[in-house]
Amino acid sequence: MNIEEHREFCLTGIMSSLRLWVADVMNLLSPNCCAICGSHLCPSEQKLCARCLLSLDYLPERDFYDNPSARLFWGKVAVERAHSHLLYRSSSAVSTLLMQLKYNHRPDLGLWLGRQMAHELQPRGFFEGIDGIVPVPLAWQRLLKRGYNQSLMLARGVSEVTGLPVVADMVRRKRNNPSQTRLSGEERIQNAQDLFVACKKERHHHVLLVDDVLTTSATLVSCAQAISMANAGMRFSILTLGRAH
Ligand SMILES: [Zn+2]
Repeated sequence: MNIEEHREFCLTGIMSSLRLWVADVMNLLSPNCCAICGSHLCPSEQKLCARCLLSLDYLPERDFYDNPSARLFWGKVAVERAHSHLLYRSSSAVSTLLMQLKYNHRPDLGLWLGRQMAHELQPRGFFEGIDGIVPVPLAWQRLLKRGYNQSLMLARGVSEVTGLPVVADMVRRKRNNPSQTRLSGEERIQNAQDLFVACKKERHHHVLLVDDVLTTSATLVSCAQAISMANAGMRFSILTLGRAH
């Protein structure tokens, strides 16, 4: 880390601590409110009210091997099973949920959503043969600003239900890629190339890559390619909370 990066590291850390402290106080003041609409939750509800829970766009895929999420990886990286839980559209309940997860200091929401996905997928055999869960890492600048990696929280929620270990040190992000939201599909692929570096993990042979939203697959493909370079023969499955419309 050079002097400029060290300065950015310190400043970002101070600003982030202040922001997270304010968010924690706000969450303490309203601990039992729906993360989407803000209404008070009944004792039987967790994180979301029944109305918001029912209003989410759940993706209907039944086949883990051939579905629109799996097809995004065809010809790029060999993926065994792929599942995305929710359909992501701008200005929807799902986009509000993701905003809360990523930008409003709600790591608890990630854990809860990870558990919900695992409870649904485990009886359907989605996790069979998988021996580790790898969350897509954030660059340190973004991690420091946010205070947590939302994909790691989702992975931990899945781990709590399945008992599979989270392998958070298998891969790291080499650089902070600029926001992808304004880029075209082709530009996103260019932007995501060579983003990650991985280390060898001999105990693992089939990992589940976990990310918050699947858009073009460029980030997950780059992550899988880096892991493959360090671990020949590694098998991959994919789980994301949302898939962009
Ligand atoms: Zn609600």
